[in-house]
Amino acid sequence: MLKLDAEVKKCLKCGKDNTFLTQADICEYGVWIARNKRADRFSRVQLIDNPVFDEFTELISQVCSELNIADYREYTHDLFQIACDPVDGNSVSFRDVARVCRYCGSEDFACGLSKPLYTVEVDTFDVSYDSWNSKTTEEKKQLVFNALTTIQDRNIST
Ligand SMILES: [Zn+2]
Repeated sequence: MLKLDAEVKKCLKCGKDNTFLTQADICEYGVWIARNKRADRFSRVQLIDNPVFDEFTELISQVCSELNIADYREYTHDLFQIACDPVDGNSVSFRDVARVCRYCGSEDFACGLSKPLYTVEVDTFDVSYDSWNSKTTEEKKQLVFNALTTIQDRNIST
């Protein structure tokens, strides 16, 4: 089990309360929180002494310098999911869940909380790297390259 903060926020369109689990509030050095697609299971991923993370960081810094991207670190958080095996058939994500009202689809919420922040316990899973580890360095680098160019295209078009 993992403890996360739950925020209850009122939708400004339909007035209903939505509960959001905040991963960002877990500030633990060298740890990122991964979630499954439904955002109902989470994982603490240790980055320190993690050979997969070290290799991933090395490759992304190489690819970034080849693409003339100044700072690879702004992409590591978004892209480390490509080294992780899927969970429940979908990629894991290190991003916070998009805040969309589950009743009306609006993205506008009141600034304040409808009730005080509270702690919830959520189910966990273990992140594995079997697929990544089965690839050659060249294949891994290609994977990083593809992910990076995809995310860059998206940034340019929006
Ligand atoms: Zn709503």
